[in-house]
Parts: sequence; C-alpha cells; structure tokens
Amino acid sequence: FISMQHIEKRFGDQEVLKDVSLEMKRGEIVSIIGPSGSGKSTFLRCLGQLETIDGGTITVDEDVLASTDAQGIVTYADKSKAHDILLRMGMVFQSFNLFPHMTVLENIMVAPRMVKGMKDKDILPIAERLLTKVGLWEKRYGYPSQLSGGQKQRVAIARALTMDPEILLFDEPTSALDPELTGEVLKTIKGLAEDHMTMIIVTHEMNFARDVSDRVIFMADGIIQEEGTPEQIYGNPTSPRTRAFLESML
Ligand code: ATP
Ligand code: MG
Repeated sequence: FISMQHIEKRFGDQEVLKDVSLEMKRGEIVSIIGPSGSGKSTFLRCLGQLETIDGGTITVDEDVLASTDAQGIVTYADKSKAHDILLRMGMVFQSFNLFPHMTVLENIMVAPRMVKGMKDKDILPIAERLLTKVGLWEKRYGYPSQLSGGQKQRVAIARALTMDPEILLFDEPTSALDPELTGEVLKTIKGLAEDHMTMIIVTHEMNFARDVSDRVIFMADGIIQEEGTPEQIYGNPTSPRTRAFLESML
C-alpha cells in the first residue's frame, strides 16, 4: 500500500534522514519511536507532502509521488496527482490546528465542503457519526477555546476522518496534553485500531506503542536502527541503542 524507499532528507548540510525505508500493508499499524531530533517527524512530513525528499521513492498503491533516478534527481508527481495522493491521508499533529472562530461542527465540516465539494446535508450524518465516535457530539456548537486539550485533539481526529482517508498519520498526538488527558485520546486511537484503520504513529508513549502496534520502528540518527513486533522490540531488542533508549523511556 505505502512504500517509502531509501528516503533521504537534508536541511542545509544536516542529513536528517539518511536512508529510511518503510513498507506498509493496509490495516497495519506502525509506531515510530526514537530520541528527539532523530527525524521521526521529518519522515512523516515527507509522506504527508509537508517536506520534499532529497532522495528515495514514495509510492501509494501504484501511484508514484516521488522518485529518484540513478543521477540522484528527484521527480515529483504533477500537482493533481500529488493532491489526489494527499487526499488519501489524514494527519493529526501535536498542535490541533483547529479553526478558533469556527464551532466544533464547522471545523469538522469545512474540509469535505471545500475540498470535496460535498453538500452539508451529506456531510452532517458523517460528522454526527464521527463526533459521536470520539464522544463529542454534545459539544458540536462549542468553540475550540471551550474544549480541553484532549477534546480538541479528538475533534482533530474526527476532522481527519471526515475526509475518509486510507491512512492516518499521527505525530505525537498526546505530547501537548496533560497526563490525565492523554488517556482519552489514546483510547480514541485504540478504537480506530480496532476498526483496522491503517496508521503510522510517532509517539513517546512507549506503553501505548506496545499495545496498539503491529510493528514498532526505532529511529535514531536518521536511520532505522531496529524494527520488529512490539514483543521483539520491547522484549528482546538486539541493538544496544534500542535497549538504552527503552531503558531511558520505561
Ligand atoms: P522530536 O521527538 O523532538 O519530535 P523528531 O525525531 O521528530 O524529534 P525532527 O523534527 O524530524 O525530529 O527533526 C530532525 C532534525 O531536523 C532536527 O535536528 C531538527 O532540528 C531538524 N529540522 C527539522 N525540521 C527542520 C526545518 N524545517 N529546518 C531545519 N531543520 C529542521
Ligand atoms: Mg517530532
């Protein structure tokens, strides 16, 4: 489904991603863990078209978003194809990025209306189902400023889902939240896992990553140091780097 091969990314002369590859099947849940500055967000942002790559290939099913030839020249898909690929992804970040002047319901409805040209009467049942799913239907006329951080993040998740994405990308969805609020967001993501949503989750929540993932990737210094099932990574890490990182986190 998703294939990212030999991804390279530089900022100036800093090589942030040196050679990172990821293959994902539909329905798979992959967590990316690793120290601060290791390139986790950058990798996710390359998939989400928020950064361009300096090397490697990205394909989604048969659609090539970016490829690199033998000379190292990167070619991107044309705008309409890149946009089509983008529409198949939902992204949820640490900062919720809700529109402050819109109600919860408006925040949820704006993308299908503007991007897909859907009619409000068609969006409304979807919005109701998703807001109910994240437990916030009764808050639909509230504004983001009236919500807790955890509630805002759940609105952001519902908003990503209204576009009916094939994959959800999470970048530290709980790291801006007080500890007592992270649980409700993690529970929401767990619910999506039970629905077999395909997800990539960058997180510092080690126990959560172990619980929810089919596969865990440990990234450090711009490369994948180790990957495997949660049992392998947490129970029997082979790399000393992984072991040291987990010891510092657990
Ligand atoms: P964290 O766990 O703290 O979120 P991370 O693994 O997500 O870290 P990245 O945000 O991917 O790390 O950053 C990797 C490196 O790239 C860091 O050294 C960062 O300073 C650098 N970097 C990221 N974005 C940019 C940018 N837009 N311009 C310049 N340098 C950047
Ligand atoms: Mg990050």
